[in-house]
Amino acid sequence: MKITGIREQTVSLASGLRNAGISYDAMTASVVVVETDDRALCGLGFDSVGRYGHGALLRERFIPRLLDAAPGDLLDDDGLVDPAAAWHAMMANEKPGGHGERAGAVGVLDMALWDLRARQRGEPAWRTIAGYFGVAGAPAVTVYGTGGHYGADAADTGPLRETLAEARGRGFRTFKIKIGGAPLETDIARIEAALDIAGPRALALDTNGVWGPDTAAEWLAALADYDIAWIEEPVSPLDYAGLAEIAGRFAIPIGTGENLFSLDDARNLERHGGLRPDLDLLQFDISLSYGLPEYVRIVECFTAKGWSPRRFAPHAGHVLALHTVAALGLGMAEVALDAALPIGGLPGGTAVEDGRVALPDAPGFGIETMPALHACFADLLG
Ligand code: MG
Repeated sequence: MKITGIREQTVSLASGLRNAGISYDAMTASVVVVETDDRALCGLGFDSVGRYGHGALLRERFIPRLLDAAPGDLLDDDGLVDPAAAWHAMMANEKPGGHGERAGAVGVLDMALWDLRARQRGEPAWRTIAGYFGVAGAPAVTVYGTGGHYGADAADTGPLRETLAEARGRGFRTFKIKIGGAPLETDIARIEAALDIAGPRALALDTNGVWGPDTAAEWLAALADYDIAWIEEPVSPLDYAGLAEIAGRFAIPIGTGENLFSLDDARNLERHGGLRPDLDLLQFDISLSYGLPEYVRIVECFTAKGWSPRRFAPHAGHVLALHTVAALGLGMAEVALDAALPIGGLPGGTAVEDGRVALPDAPGFGIETMPALHACFADLLG
């Protein structure tokens, strides 16, 4: 097998969704297809959501480095594509630190290479990933459903109730909604409506990092009597001291990490963020964090300090995250409740049973079994 070409495209993820920080009116993402000398064999990669496409970086640096590598340098002894070897080829002549957007460009290519390796082996990606990293893995994954973005009228709790009730009927047991983008009293009404359906310790609240520590303290004091599963990004993602202050003052579990894109940043979070290994959730986004080789280093950074892999719940309803949770025995995978979104739904029509899913056996990540996601590849696959 030889990689013969890599094609990329920026696709629109535009939707009417809004959280406390941004709207998705002009959101984009990159998709890539890694082609081989076997026309039936390719690998598909999809960016994560929320950081826009990475087209220029892909075209100017990372795709040329893969195509310029000696073909044998990207393969293991069995002739399978070796994503870790490819990772080093992609990162040649990249200075340390200042990770920024390049981490997402490398990550989307890394996903396509895992997809390719799994297809070469004729097995689901979770099994390929587990085998590569020498762990058992298991196809059963705990999931939670994300919905409850702000619509046209934040004070109208009807659509929120409808989304969560429908998801509960489909088997979801834990939910996440957006807060912090409306006045406190409006969000309290939304939280109470959502808790009616979710029940205690089954509703997470995502503020998307728009608060400073003082605002976070004010809101968390107002929420102290509600039984919340976790509060997500209660302060700016890079404000480690502010996070430590909040973690020291409030008992509510904290989820964070989705806007940190490297081992360097994750290590700083572990050292300075004041997070509690028995309580808090680590939500690094695999695709945006240089892909799986770096993500595994991040997991090891925390487990070496006594954290359980079960405290990891990678960001985004992303099929890469779903398979990685299964492969590495992580705690939870996120599922975007709106299956019409490219990042929504589950592969192969997988059903949720009492908050758990069993991944199907489709080879690779099963992107072709997810209609909205697969449609993003229509142009590249011709
Ligand atoms: Mg979030």
